[in-house]
Amino acid sequence: MASFLNKARVPGVDSPSCRCEQGIETAEHLLLHCPIEQERREWRRGAQLSELLSNPGYTAATAKWIIQSNRLGQFQLANRLLYNRVSASTALQTRHRV
Ligand SMILES: [Zn+2]
Repeated sequence: MASFLNKARVPGVDSPSCRCEQGIETAEHLLLHCPIEQERREWRRGAQLSELLSNPGYTAATAKWIIQSNRLGQFQLANRLLYNRVSASTALQTRHRV
């Protein structure tokens, strides 16, 4: 993720390295190798990277998983709204007040 954003010269992404400092932060690194994501990785049950990224049975879960990793700054709000019910309801209440 940082690798892609760094190549795209996204402001604030100065390095393609992962915060674990054991590799470049790519989708493959996060999904298969990153020690920080070790516990969150259980759901894929041994699926191969190609399946995770192209098999319709996995792609939605893969996208959700990557968003929930909060590695993509621009998706942090989406993560809170989509997957954190407390924050989502708070956001809705705030919207009603406006
Ligand atoms: Zn890592």
